[in-house]
Amino acid sequence: MSKFDKSRPMPVKYWSFAGLMLTYWCNARCASCYVCSSPQAEGDMSVEAALAFWEGLQSVSPHGCRIHIGGGEPFGRWEILSSLVRQAHRAGLGPLEAVETNAFWATGDKIIRERLAVLDAAGMGRLTISADPYHQQFVPVERVRLLARVGGEVLGPDRIRIRWRDWAADGFDTDSLAEQQRRRLFAEYAGLGHDRLAGRAAVELADLLPMKPAADFADKPCRDRLLRSRHIHIDGGGIVCPGTCAGIILGRVDDADSVGRLWQNLRRNFADTNNGGTGVQSVQDCTGSKHVPPIDVLNLLVRSGPVALLAAAGKLGYVERAEGYAGPCHLCWSVRRWLVENRYFRDRLGPAGVYRP
Ligand code: SF4
Ligand code: SF4
Repeated sequence: MSKFDKSRPMPVKYWSFAGLMLTYWCNARCASCYVCSSPQAEGDMSVEAALAFWEGLQSVSPHGCRIHIGGGEPFGRWEILSSLVRQAHRAGLGPLEAVETNAFWATGDKIIRERLAVLDAAGMGRLTISADPYHQQFVPVERVRLLARVGGEVLGPDRIRIRWRDWAADGFDTDSLAEQQRRRLFAEYAGLGHDRLAGRAAVELADLLPMKPAADFADKPCRDRLLRSRHIHIDGGGIVCPGTCAGIILGRVDDADSVGRLWQNLRRNFADTNNGGTGVQSVQDCTGSKHVPPIDVLNLLVRSGPVALLAAAGKLGYVERAEGYAGPCHLCWSVRRWLVENRYFRDRLGPAGVYRP
């Protein structure tokens, strides 16, 4: 039977969008960062590894896979980024949909034109620029505006995406605000619901939001976000995470072939979830070095959601926050952070750096 046989159920969607996380390093340390990047964060992707993962991603879906390059701040690794896109283009690898940046490097017209010309020649579809009150604590908004203007001239305005455009137009640098003022602004912005409450956001933003008891998030299985979003990220160590759930390891890859194998393994392991399966026995135990009950964090979250993870962690000693949680992902990340700090499930939760806000 073909691996693309349409008569078979699709418990795990094809990976159609994949982010290569070129580095965890970043000049900034945004309160909203769900991978906890910072100037101290480590973990780069080599050009060779990136090319292998890129090639492997093309084989997973009959429709190919659109690649975006992010981090961390990929322009902080310009040598790797420029070499990667050139080699990928020469090798005829699939579409480079976007490169993401916070614009910290956009200090003048010349460097912007030079770098965007390289990316354009290598087939980059779009430049995505981050702009919000959290980023502008570390990156002058003038650089965002300059990059957007000159980028628009080089690539055409339709190929510049700013997240968020209204802030880039009217916003300001937030580094000089008094702490109280900044917290008020962040609380207001976080209340818009744009941010994933994981990583540093789960620590620095979640507590600015209204809390609810964990029980309010019961019976919310995460199957769709974990297995059916079509979107994954791969880091330099070959760790594959769902696009929206950093720190949950779907598996590890080390060459082009292992990417397709991982997708097939997930599909096999979760085949019964397509018809509402709730068993927890079908996935191999994937625990770390401690002796713990045979549960698999991914399996638990897919089938039952974060309150089930809370219950499992409670048996290991995790104490639920009396003040509650700002949402299911805040709950999930808080429990996962405790598990990582106590060295549980290290095969399934990582890399450790994304749990160090
Ligand atoms: S959110 Fe982006 S710009 Fe901010 S620290 Fe994280 S990777 Fe860097
Ligand atoms: S609760 Fe956890 S697994 Fe579910 S969507 Fe949020 S971060 Fe992902």
